[in-house]
Amino acid sequence: MRSSTAHEYDVDVLVIGGGISGLTTASYLSSNGLSVQIWEKTDRAGGKIKTNHTDGFQTEQAASMVMNFRPEVDQFLQQTGLEQYKIKRSLKSENQRYLIHQGKLQSLPMTIGRLFLSPLWSTSGKFRLLMEPFIFKGTHSNETVTEFVSRRFGSEFLEKAMEPFISGTLASDPDLACAQYVIPRLTALEKKYGSITAGIFAHKILGKRTARNPESFSFKDGMETLTKRLAANPVVGFQYNYQVQKIIQHGHYHWEVQASTPEGDIQCKSRHVVITSPAETAARLLSPLSQTLSDTLSSIKYTSLSVVHLGYEQSAVKHSLDSAGFLVPRQEKMNINGNLWMSSIFSGLTPDKHILLSSYLGGTRHPSAINLSHQQSIEQVIEDINSLLNINDSPVMTRVDKHPKALPLYHGNYHQKLLLIKEQLQTLAGLHIEANYKGGISIRDRIVSAEKTANKIIHHLHLGNEPERLFFSKPSLRPVIS
Ligand SMILES: Cc1cc2nc3c(=O)[nH]c(=O)nc-3n(C[C@H](O)[C@H](O)[C@H](O)COP(=O)(O)OP(=O)(O)OC[C@H]3O[C@@H](n4cnc5c(N)ncnc54)[C@H](O)[C@@H]3O)c2cc1C
Repeated sequence: MRSSTAHEYDVDVLVIGGGISGLTTASYLSSNGLSVQIWEKTDRAGGKIKTNHTDGFQTEQAASMVMNFRPEVDQFLQQTGLEQYKIKRSLKSENQRYLIHQGKLQSLPMTIGRLFLSPLWSTSGKFRLLMEPFIFKGTHSNETVTEFVSRRFGSEFLEKAMEPFISGTLASDPDLACAQYVIPRLTALEKKYGSITAGIFAHKILGKRTARNPESFSFKDGMETLTKRLAANPVVGFQYNYQVQKIIQHGHYHWEVQASTPEGDIQCKSRHVVITSPAETAARLLSPLSQTLSDTLSSIKYTSLSVVHLGYEQSAVKHSLDSAGFLVPRQEKMNINGNLWMSSIFSGLTPDKHILLSSYLGGTRHPSAINLSHQQSIEQVIEDINSLLNINDSPVMTRVDKHPKALPLYHGNYHQKLLLIKEQLQTLAGLHIEANYKGGISIRDRIVSAEKTANKIIHHLHLGNEPERLFFSKPSLRPVIS
């Protein structure tokens, strides 16, 4: 179905940026009968997501897997035909977690019972965990992760569990990260039940399922299969090498987008525009429309990150690699934030009898690591992992993927920032921001958030109603990829 005034517009929706945010938003929209174009400034789809092949090893430039507990993601993969390409994580990597403690690999307890027997935690730290249900609710919405976690569980839990997780998986700093947006499930449990422990029990007793069992997976031939296949959907008009330069508002739900392309400048009229580009680009495009919005977007900080992939002959690594890898707490003062044992997580990433290890350097812990050369980055990783994993030979494959602006940081008064963005967007009818600085950085969060944005647009264009009133209605998806 096209909008009733389609003749005035080239497309119903123009999406700026062809990363996972743009691709999922466009998929939802086009599968509901709307005409959509994605304009992407580079010559490939996927944005941050990219799979590389080096000397027979398959590596991921950014996201190495989807960690899912949301039914919306399952539904999206089924309805786009992508479910059939899913590669599940191996069982071997699921049963064990490691953390560095006093310079050594220590097995992390996976159950409450084991935690109380574990030498990782002090006796006082264990008792502090037991106190959690008796701690009062927090009173301000802008608590940092450090404030929230140490108030509820004590500082030992912060340093040994939460800090390594926040630094290792989000490259963020718990002392500055806004708890409400970085660990939303925990803050929501406190808000609703007064305690996280009580909330978990309540959900169990009530049989409440807000989430499915967690599952980690990649795709056949790597993460890029996800984005490549979404971009190949003929219903989504994916335009490569279209760099958006200007967004002009002609009226209520009446937009013009201009881009430079190899064939010259081009423009497109649409009723809705969805911006999925990084905050800096969005700020530049939006400054003629709202200086407040532009300033708020400019204030979002990003962190840098280098991903160092090392391939070894199996015989060179004496450790059994019986896990997904390890995280590093900040007191350990190591170069790397974490190390993923990729060949233990997924099969088929290496030549026969080889292993693949991917390490993360930099983030807010070591911002200058981005300036290290290829060789220096590799040396820093080797210095950390050789003794931990009992490695006695040099890698046979090395690859370093650098991201000067890897991830947005949900630091400071993020609540206020998001409120300002929302308020300003309400004055620009038909303009939307759907990006990883709003609604979560993970691919899971990108899919869930894109569906909400698409719903707003779908209900406005199909029903002619103000989107706010119909925000969470479900679109009826049809498969977009055969
Ligand atoms: C090192 C690293 C590891 C990660 N690991 C994981 C993981 O294991 N699991 C997970 O779930 N997530 C992971 N993430 C996070 C996840 O990969 C990203 O948050 C997500 O891919 C971002 O997608 P996006 O579409 O929002 O942005 P992007 O991928 O940045 O896409 C934005 C697109 O906009 C385009 N663009 C910019 N300006 C313009 C313009 N003017 N005109 C047209 N196009 C424009 C860009 O070229 C780009 O293609 C990781 C991220 C990094 C960096």
